[in-house]
Amino acid sequence: MKFLYSDTQDYVDPEYDFLTDRNAPTRRRYWDDKYAHEIMQPTPYDGLLVAMSAVRPAPGVASSKVRYSTAEQQRMLRDGVRKFLRFDGAAYKDAMVMGDCGSFAYVEQEKPAYAPMEVFEFYADAGFTHGVSPDHIIFACDTTNPPLAAMDKDVGFRYEVTLENAREFMRICRSEDLPFEPMGAVQGWSPQSIAQAAHEMEKMGYRYLAIGGLVPLKVDVIHQVLQALRATTKPETNIHLLGFAKADSIHQFTDYGITSFDSTSPLIRAFMDEKANYYVPQVDGSLEYYSAIRIPQAIENNRLMQGIKQGIFNAEDLQQREERALTAVRQFDKGQETLAATVEAVMDYQQFLTLGGDSDKHEKSLKKTRLQVERTLAAAPWKHCRCDICTDVGVEVIIFRSANRNRRRGFHNLGVYHQHVQRILEKNQ
Ligand SMILES: [Zn+2]
Repeated sequence: MKFLYSDTQDYVDPEYDFLTDRNAPTRRRYWDDKYAHEIMQPTPYDGLLVAMSAVRPAPGVASSKVRYSTAEQQRMLRDGVRKFLRFDGAAYKDAMVMGDCGSFAYVEQEKPAYAPMEVFEFYADAGFTHGVSPDHIIFACDTTNPPLAAMDKDVGFRYEVTLENAREFMRICRSEDLPFEPMGAVQGWSPQSIAQAAHEMEKMGYRYLAIGGLVPLKVDVIHQVLQALRATTKPETNIHLLGFAKADSIHQFTDYGITSFDSTSPLIRAFMDEKANYYVPQVDGSLEYYSAIRIPQAIENNRLMQGIKQGIFNAEDLQQREERALTAVRQFDKGQETLAATVEAVMDYQQFLTLGGDSDKHEKSLKKTRLQVERTLAAAPWKHCRCDICTDVGVEVIIFRSANRNRRRGFHNLGVYHQHVQRILEKNQ
């Protein structure tokens, strides 16, 4: 079971100055930056996934989802996706670089944003190893398996267009001598309809299926989908789980013969999750999570800036508290400050970050945060991690502040998560 990371131009400045919070003076974005696989050994994933919607704008594709400039898109097509991602050394020769349409970006639209021929050319020109047929997401998954007639017209349309696209996509791939392995995107409104679509795609000639629409589903619904799927498909048919948000439950799904899955959640949680920001592997093979210590830059924090503008906060005063919190955490790391004093310094700044309003709520939220800060500092998990990120930047990895720290923490999580997946597989062998 391979773990693929879905990249959205995630790199860090290797020369970032943590003390002044500045990029290297001569740094050129992308060119001098490093992807996770360039600064971590072993590589923290088995392959990469790139969504077409992140690269190529199209009518109906949310502009916030397009991460590449026109020049970058052109360079990817000219030089190839491997070279663009600098994932082209001998070490990655057999690693998957999969393309999909990123159908989330156009989910609100009536029709998929890209036609099968355009998608085929995109994958072929960029030299992807695997390419997913253009699908249209169906969000609902009804475990009572209602017939299509009972569903909304839009659901039927999405189901049909996904199948039609897959048929056309396979026809083009075959006529062009299969420059990459085509994957059939499977969508359905119920476990049975998903299994039926998978069966249709096998008949079209697909040997690798990509199951979409799993993102919002609960773990038990995903089980029902996979059971129905495996009861219908050939045992040798490969299965990929697209955008598997329940990455931390992957150990529950090893019995279905999953070939691969992709997820961004280890990276995203480093800065989006309320408390599970830093992954730590446990002796029993499970994962434990710590919250990062939030010391944002006052001048970059919306809430603080608004408070300063409205005259509620004093900018100088805030910056002093911010500086004291940072210093305390770094001193603590060196054994030159006590746990209690460090927690105080962090909380002294934290009180301005937590939403005001109801004072009871404010107190409760501060109490919760204090416990999280204490727990993280007491365990000091960054000191025990041997990964390249934690070895290089030490305590900075646990500080929730600026993309260069937050993304590095995400890289650390990817590494821990990848090893977690490998351990699960070894256990099951
Ligand atoms: Zn680490």
